[in-house]
Amino acid sequence: MPKVPNWQIGREMDYPYPQVFPRRQFAFVFNINRCIACQSCTMACKSTWTFSKGQEQMWWANVETKPYGGYPQFWDAKILDLLEKANPGNQQWSGKPSGDRKSPYGQFDGKTIFEAQNLLTPDSARVLGYLPTDEEWNSPNIFEDNPVGKKGVRNELDKEGTALPEHKTWFFYLARICNHCSYPACLAACPRKAIYKRPEDGIVLIDQKECRGYRKCVEACPYKKTMYRGNTRVSEKCVGCYPRVEGKDPESGGQPMETRCMAACIGQIRMQGLVKMNNDGSWTEDRYNPLYYMIHVAKVALPLYPQFGTEPNGYYIPPRWVPRDYLKQMFGPGVDEAIERYAYPDRELLAVLQLFRRSNRIIFRYEIKEGPKIYEATLRGRKVTMYNDTVIAYGQDGKEIFRTQIEEPVHVRPNKHANSI
Ligand code: SF4
Ligand code: SF4
Repeated sequence: MPKVPNWQIGREMDYPYPQVFPRRQFAFVFNINRCIACQSCTMACKSTWTFSKGQEQMWWANVETKPYGGYPQFWDAKILDLLEKANPGNQQWSGKPSGDRKSPYGQFDGKTIFEAQNLLTPDSARVLGYLPTDEEWNSPNIFEDNPVGKKGVRNELDKEGTALPEHKTWFFYLARICNHCSYPACLAACPRKAIYKRPEDGIVLIDQKECRGYRKCVEACPYKKTMYRGNTRVSEKCVGCYPRVEGKDPESGGQPMETRCMAACIGQIRMQGLVKMNNDGSWTEDRYNPLYYMIHVAKVALPLYPQFGTEPNGYYIPPRWVPRDYLKQMFGPGVDEAIERYAYPDRELLAVLQLFRRSNRIIFRYEIKEGPKIYEATLRGRKVTMYNDTVIAYGQDGKEIFRTQIEEPVHVRPNKHANSI
């Protein structure tokens, strides 16, 4: 198998095809601390793409309550379990970045789903995975709002109260879509070569004419984001709302627009971007692109299960109240640093966090104009100062999309409208 660079795990890894990277990559940041599980994103996707006969159980975008929820049920526990069986006791990060492909998170010394050869069968010769049962697909929101309580028991609340940094009773909402991975497992496993990654934006698509419904992609995707449609006998997956990303939506004015799930987000947790890529798969330095800043400079947003090896392009600001061991298994060793940065944001991070969901247009650059000091306090023993800075977002064409401030403006409704909406 060819060796390819994977910056998220800090080393080279095996992948069935040689490395090829798009010019720009579809990527996104979800701030889990803000998700309220309203499922507006889920329904925005469903009502756009998967409302037809045969797609009843197909949820390209979903929001599950962790740790018990999952669509399909137990998807992550099952693949983690398989990897543990392939490499017992050794699925570890060493925290030592190696060579010139430094990972901000350290080096993963265990096996990825492409490297667990000893558990691969002749039938699944390229990627370690499993095919979920029909039952596992049939309850997309199972265990919603079920917390982990005393001694890890589901729904048994801890009576001793709770406080940061870790709550004794906890759950959180994990919003998920296809990660449009840099090394897609779905693509690697397809015997028909029906899956491809677009060179212009890295969106991963299934060619419906080429697919014969073997479901190798469903088996291989560790995030279980390709789905089989019984009545057409082909697999389908998130298309990254590519007409919007191409600027073909009537509302877009020809400029790249965020996907439907991002645009619908009530909790304002989502930001999507198109980031520039180098020929070696690293991100081109683009200091004032908000995604580049959050992922590579502030390191406040982390990839979902980087140890799987697909180099997912979905990043998450981890929830502050959840036990760290659980989060480190899910997001890698960068969790402590990310939560520290989020809990005590500096002036720039606080400004960038204001960019979420002020517009449906994709932001390519931001600029901060400094404002006056508005707040000073000691928070959990640390001095915190806030300034009313203005942050300005620019689009692909270099024109301003919007500007907003740290301090939310107060609008006083005129008396004649006091009772209307
Ligand atoms: S998340 Fe799954 S379906 Fe999406 S690109 Fe990665 S491997 Fe393929
Ligand atoms: S729309 Fe936003 S806040 Fe609501 S469930 Fe989806 S990600 Fe969470």
